[in-house]
Amino acid sequence: MILVLNCGSSSLKYSLFDEGERVRAGGHIERIGEADSSMELWSCGRREQHSVVAVDHRQAMAAMGAALEERGQGAYLLKAIGHRVVHGGERFVESALITQEVEEGIDACAELAPLHNPVALAGISAARQLFASVPQVAVFDTAFHQTMPERAFLYAIPRSLYREQGIRRYGFHGTSHRYVAQRAAEVLRMDPEEFTGITCHLGNGCSLAAIENGCSIDTTMGLTPLEGVAMGTRSGDVDPALIFHLARSGMELADIERLLVEESGLLGLSGYSQDVRQLEAVALEGDEAAQVALDVFAYRVRKAIGSLYAVIGHMDALVFTGGIGENSAFMRRRIIDGLEGFGLQLDPARNRAHSRSEGEVSSFGARVKILVIPTNEELVIAREARDLISRKNEG
Ligand code: ADP
Repeated sequence: MILVLNCGSSSLKYSLFDEGERVRAGGHIERIGEADSSMELWSCGRREQHSVVAVDHRQAMAAMGAALEERGQGAYLLKAIGHRVVHGGERFVESALITQEVEEGIDACAELAPLHNPVALAGISAARQLFASVPQVAVFDTAFHQTMPERAFLYAIPRSLYREQGIRRYGFHGTSHRYVAQRAAEVLRMDPEEFTGITCHLGNGCSLAAIENGCSIDTTMGLTPLEGVAMGTRSGDVDPALIFHLARSGMELADIERLLVEESGLLGLSGYSQDVRQLEAVALEGDEAAQVALDVFAYRVRKAIGSLYAVIGHMDALVFTGGIGENSAFMRRRIIDGLEGFGLQLDPARNRAHSRSEGEVSSFGARVKILVIPTNEELVIAREARDLISRKNEG
């Protein structure tokens, strides 16, 4: 069995995979550090909810370990643990077996992801205490984008900032982009190393990637996950001078950051929701604010497709994934509308039929396939952990 862990600032998610890549159990603990932490878990088709004591990730991990043990899925069954780590900087171009040195490397990247890397390290340390004999692997959100060329990852600012402080574009959601690009190649019966296309991960966070011969050569997120298209609560690209303007008008830096990260995007434009399902429902009833929010969102994604198309020059397929990309036929239609010149044409019936399932939504005979591929980051992490451990055992 392989245990996949994803530590957020106040949450811990886990999935337990068997040798056949099936998920045998999973769950999440929310509100770690608060008085009312809760654990939801499922195993053998049964779902349960409990309140737990979890003042920190160590206690949350212990609660998860006890729940696994009670259900006969204890440590002795575990071959490896895979951790999702947000930032691997330039140091981690692929997944890594966790050693003291790797932990120091993750810590060194914490400056670039101060909200994420420290909690991943807390999770790694808690997992080591609980499952001392089980090897652990780190899988990085940034690693897949490390194939971006310099012209794509450098900002046009003094280069010393890159050399001295690592300020450059890194990109995120790499595990998802990689999974759906490989799956797209399988669906098209192509060698994954020959697949060229655009992957659109549209969830609460959104990013697109240009894939050339199976490698990411550009993506919309940058130094942080704030860059790029508009998202649930994040603004995406704005004129950087907006920040000076707001600061000069008296806003504190922390408030500007909150505005752009937590109060913008679909939420900021609509004034009440970041949830596309809800916005679609009220937009259809004629709500102008929801219509504008969805319109800006779709327009930004369409523009990003155009700019990434200019980077790769041709496409085998365009792939939609993430909660919005997988489920919203309405948003897919609005995004693709007007891109016929790129060979992108949706089949309305196929598009409507696809919700949460994999398949083609482009018109028969269209030059470029449009695919819906549900992402599966946990599966990639489980595979990476399994493969690294078996390579280590062979070596
Ligand atoms: P996260 O990035 O947090 O993992 P998800 O990938 O689950 O988020 O995506 C969340 C987004 O997907 C929300 O905007 C939600 O409204 C949207 N979404 C989920 N299901 C549907 C649906 N059936 N129709 C339209 N949008 C949906």
